[in-house]
Amino acid sequence: MKSLLIINAGSSSLKFAVFNLPLVKDAPSIFRGQIDGIGANTQFVAKDIDGKTLLDTIIKSPEGTELEAQQELALTTLLNWVEEQKVELAAVGHRVLQGGEKYSAPVVVTPEVFQVLETFIPLGPLHQPHNLRPIRVLAAKYPNLPQVACFDTAFHRTQPWQAQTYAIPRKITAEGVKRYGFHGSSYDYIARQLPEVIGDKAHGCVIVAHMGNGASMAAMRDGKCVATSMGFTAIEGLMMGTRTGSIDPGVLLYMMDRHGYGPKEISNFLYKESGLLGVSGISQDMRTLEASDAPEAKEALELFCYRAAREIGSLMMAAGGLEALVFTGGIGENSQFVRNKVIGYLEWMGAKLDPELNKVRGKAHCIHTADSKIAVAVIPTNEEWMIAHHTTSLLGL
Ligand code: AMP
Repeated sequence: MKSLLIINAGSSSLKFAVFNLPLVKDAPSIFRGQIDGIGANTQFVAKDIDGKTLLDTIIKSPEGTELEAQQELALTTLLNWVEEQKVELAAVGHRVLQGGEKYSAPVVVTPEVFQVLETFIPLGPLHQPHNLRPIRVLAAKYPNLPQVACFDTAFHRTQPWQAQTYAIPRKITAEGVKRYGFHGSSYDYIARQLPEVIGDKAHGCVIVAHMGNGASMAAMRDGKCVATSMGFTAIEGLMMGTRTGSIDPGVLLYMMDRHGYGPKEISNFLYKESGLLGVSGISQDMRTLEASDAPEAKEALELFCYRAAREIGSLMMAAGGLEALVFTGGIGENSQFVRNKVIGYLEWMGAKLDPELNKVRGKAHCIHTADSKIAVAVIPTNEEWMIAHHTTSLLGL
């Protein structure tokens, strides 16, 4: 049977999903899994359509192997395993961080397109090279296998210029230092589900909160993005698992001055040591914090929700109103506490949550009361399916 492979490659991890063709709406992947700890202890886990573990193994490479070589080994190990499952690949779809200003939609990767995507590496040095490496390896190994790139930034290309521009010197803006926004495949998927879940309100002002380890929000009008909380990098905006979210850059100057921080320490501070983990001092994991009695865990949760509510206020202004709020991502889909707390901040606007509906899990549904002035919904996201859909549409599969 012909299938599609979807790849989401980072520096130390590679997530994958395999879908059968023809692709049916919201079809589950026949295989999925991830390779984690690339560069240290590389673990390869693969699951079947029911979530049953088919493989859980360590990928060994000789001591001192460069990270790049280890990433390539992870990919070839995956490809060999996929082949062993008697899967015949018709195409591969990739999650790619940056499509720059050029790409507002997914694209078939030709050698010329690949060259353009490489020019975006300075805009996303932590992700873009790792997203592109599997494309290069696959193109060398299987030159006739079509590959499609789906960009995290593409969905946000409809933002007006004000939403994309920092108040910095024009020549730096001209270099591409702009507010791009991320989580695009997730928003794209949710935007397409909106009419089914919230009806006509889908055409009005809707804020979607994608809350997982990384967290962002997007304000949409008629399903098109008008503003988003993330900017040049995936740091800006909401408080996240280990990322600061928006922060006064003066704090960074202080850390450089008082604590002797250089670029590496600043990067760790912004990306790895802050957010829920930094504030709680316990964990980045929402489940752990919700289960904890420690006052620091409670404070981390309170701050997470407060920051989310403030961001909603800002996005509402950009969108010109708020008819519906949608929660998605690991936290958005599962945390009753977070939804309840965030909606609590919107009560003065007439938003009301139905506590029974708020308990329901695992499906797209509304969780507001009949007299709520704002619709509130939970919609499980499906970024892999979205990438699979674009791949089949672009290639006519
Ligand atoms: P993601 O990055 O989308 O996979 O989301 C990961 C986040 O979702 C972690 O903070 C998890 O703790 C959180 N999460 C997953 N399941 C639950 C749950 N049942 N209740 C609260 N948070 C959850």
